[in-house]
Amino acid sequence: MGATSVKERAVVSGGAGFIGSHLCEALLARGLSVLALDNFITGSRDNLAHLRGNPDLEFRQADVNHGVFIGGDVRYVLHFASPASPPQYDSNPIHTLKVGTVGTMNMLGLARAKKATFLLASTSEVYGDPLIHPQPESYWGNVNPIGPRGCYDEAKRCAEAYAMAYHRTHQVDTRIIRIFNTHGPRMQVSDGRAVPNFMAQAIRGEPITVYGDGSQTRSLCYVSDLVRGVLAVLDRGDEFPVNLGNPEEVTMLELAETIVLLAGSKSEIVHKELPIDDPKQRRPDITHARKLLGWEPEVRLEDGLGRTLEYFRSVLR
Ligand code: UDP
Repeated sequence: MGATSVKERAVVSGGAGFIGSHLCEALLARGLSVLALDNFITGSRDNLAHLRGNPDLEFRQADVNHGVFIGGDVRYVLHFASPASPPQYDSNPIHTLKVGTVGTMNMLGLARAKKATFLLASTSEVYGDPLIHPQPESYWGNVNPIGPRGCYDEAKRCAEAYAMAYHRTHQVDTRIIRIFNTHGPRMQVSDGRAVPNFMAQAIRGEPITVYGDGSQTRSLCYVSDLVRGVLAVLDRGDEFPVNLGNPEEVTMLELAETIVLLAGSKSEIVHKELPIDDPKQRRPDITHARKLLGWEPEVRLEDGLGRTLEYFRSVLR
């Protein structure tokens, strides 16, 4: 046997996105070679710039909705491509629907052809505006299919159905993760979500825009915890969905106040209209992830927010 062994390869769609780029990094650190695909609708070359020159990372500008044709062996197929913030999918609804449905089918087709393990990045949005709190994986959700969030929520629900169908019909080794609100370096400043908005506003001394009365809740996970969870699901998961998120829940008003404080900002809080179908509460029940994977988040909310704030300071300078 020669000394050189061929590395196993992972294909990551949305590899130049916020979570996708962190995932590529983690896979490389595990000793895999990575082929990252992105069409740059919401991803950015800058997110992978620090990995340029790494011989184990290949990047291809590609739209997975048009088919995914790749030579050679593939061990893992990870489907992370999709607009993911409400303003982004609201302005790209057809693309969002396509990448969740046709894109998922194409990535599953690749996994089937290569006998690879497939992982779908699904979302807490499959629970819609939840009537059960916190949300366990067994909850079927409360989604408005024809509202502005329908393109994302229903596409991801369809994507989950695709994963189960490929598993049951073609015995593809599939995984489904439901990602709850996540933040960290490389989030787009202008993606419209609460964390980037509040941080950019606090740093610039602009008013902090809390939608509605700010009593709606979210639970924010730091990206390193999330990526550790993704790898645990890859290693020890089965075909059934796993919630990945931090169960530490805050109101959006508390979040705004915390960020103002952390930033040492003089920004005042102003209230704007609440978007249609904005979920009133969201917190993952992570009992399943704890039992199945021994995984739980380690980064406390304020520590994570502090790190993300550092990043936004560095890009807004
Ligand atoms: N939000 C807000 N101000 C903003 C952006 C968002 O109050 O500038 C609220 C939004 O209405 C929602 C929560 O923050 O209730 C989280 O929104 P985000 O867009 O981060 O993600 P979502 O969980 O809704 O997908």
